[in-house]
Amino acid sequence: MMSNQNLYKDIYENITTPIIICDSEFKIMLANNAASKLFNEKKENLFGKTLSDLGLIPQETCSICKGNIYSKFLPEDYEHTAEIKNNNNEVISVNVKHKLIEENKYICQFILLNDCSKLNQAHIDFVSTVSHELRTPLTSIKGFSDTLLTAGDRLDKEQQKRFITIIKTQIDRLTRLVEDLLTVSRLEAKKDNSIYKAIDLNDFIDIIIQAISPKAQEHDIYKSIIPNLPPVWADSDKLEQILTNLIDNAIKYSAKQTKVTISANYEPENPDYIQIQIIDQGVGIKKEHLPKIFTKFSRLDSPLTRQVDGTGLGLYITKSLVESMNGIINVESDGNGSTFIVKLPVATPELQISKKFSEKD
Ligand code: ADP
Repeated sequence: MMSNQNLYKDIYENITTPIIICDSEFKIMLANNAASKLFNEKKENLFGKTLSDLGLIPQETCSICKGNIYSKFLPEDYEHTAEIKNNNNEVISVNVKHKLIEENKYICQFILLNDCSKLNQAHIDFVSTVSHELRTPLTSIKGFSDTLLTAGDRLDKEQQKRFITIIKTQIDRLTRLVEDLLTVSRLEAKKDNSIYKAIDLNDFIDIIIQAISPKAQEHDIYKSIIPNLPPVWADSDKLEQILTNLIDNAIKYSAKQTKVTISANYEPENPDYIQIQIIDQGVGIKKEHLPKIFTKFSRLDSPLTRQVDGTGLGLYITKSLVESMNGIINVESDGNGSTFIVKLPVATPELQISKKFSEKD
């Protein structure tokens, strides 16, 4: 049996919050693993130093951080923000909490605020990418409408029609982008308004193939579903968007007259799940690009990507939708095309009964 003391030591060493204990002269006498990581120093190099020796810059005057033993200000509890440079020379903001414990020792606890600055950076990057994505079609719309306004009467009917068609295509692109952005913001706000039900994939996939058929005139679309496949437990709007996005991509990123197959069967390793595969014979995705295709605004460079329109948000949205329904999405690809695999739970009687009960509540 582990003694209480060893247990506390173990917790202290392995807790993810950086914690340092200073003596009455504000010199470090104990540091846990997280503190050594935060200050990017081996533990033995921390001992005997003050926090400011380690490069901590307090935003306020703090005698403990500065190691100023002559200061009269020795509070029992004191909390302030401070900054530290990490090994990439980036400034990390931390909230420092000092607490006086017995024998004039101070516990110094560091709460990282850099998650927040990382979030801000992600936000700044996102706004900058979105602005760029919006500006491209807007520039084109402005250019062609200016030309129509100033020199429209000198253009023949055919040229006028061509310019108006370009403007309409760009407006359609903007509309798609705005719709995708709204979906992203809804998904990230995690407002889950899913309405789960048992969905029979046979009929469901037929309806999707029917709806997508205007875009699929030049491809062969096949459906292959094993007999007696049980229904999946999903939200029909979400499942429709997932399958539409994946089939749409399979068509967009493969040459005309090639085959796109939508298959469904049991997940081989877990019969509680059904796997739906969308298999194309298209351009494929290089192995090194596979991990990033589900991230926002990732469009891979290929002759086809340059020709076809897209926002780079489709797969990010698709993955988020699958995961919001307790599913998994994967992709496999080689020189002969790509296969997107979506795994969703089987609509077991237990799931259906538990839903009935929760509706009654
Ligand atoms: P997009 O709006 O560009 O289609 P997606 O998020 O749906 O955005 O896809 C991201 C990128 O992944 C695409 O630009 C394309 O380069 C690649 N991609 C997606 N699906 C396929 C596929 N079936 N075959 C080959 N490449 C694909």
